[in-house]
Amino acid sequence: MGTRKPIFIDRDGVLNVDVSPYISNVDQLQLFSWTVGSLLKLHENGFEIYVVSNQQGVALGITSSEALEQITEKIQSAVRPEGFSIKKFYHCTALDSENHPWRKPSPGMILAARDEFNLELGDAFFIGDKWSDIECAARAGCRPLLVLSGVTAPGSWEQWKFKPERVFPSLKEAAEWVVEQG
Ligand SMILES: [Mg+2]
Repeated sequence: MGTRKPIFIDRDGVLNVDVSPYISNVDQLQLFSWTVGSLLKLHENGFEIYVVSNQQGVALGITSSEALEQITEKIQSAVRPEGFSIKKFYHCTALDSENHPWRKPSPGMILAARDEFNLELGDAFFIGDKWSDIECAARAGCRPLLVLSGVTAPGSWEQWKFKPERVFPSLKEAAEWVVEQG
């Protein structure tokens, strides 16, 4: 079996409906209708999927670590019947004020995945819905793709310091484009 290509994907606003300020329990998790099919398409085309997500709500006491684990398990349970699973979920549960190296826009979670799984990051895609995803991707040397199914208003990225390589309505179109790149 050949080596799978890593792809990094944000959680809230990309896989599921973004809840403000944070999803606090598993019942609030609402995957988009296209999420499982899009992840399956990536898997079938040789990608290994990593989720990288800021979850400051844990440090703020809004989301318990048990709830965070239940949410991860619910997402895995949604994809497992398709014959695969997400390789790993990386969460940064630190406060913004802690300046944790894992907290996006810092690239720490991607670098941790690289070190843990011996990944080649060059040309790896990162799909996110927020400026901090795009900056994190760029700083890690990945190719940033923006989706508009989350918190970013159309056109607002033009003012960002780090810009997405491409912009898509959702993970569905982003995944279709990614697999076309070969
Ligand atoms: Mg997000």
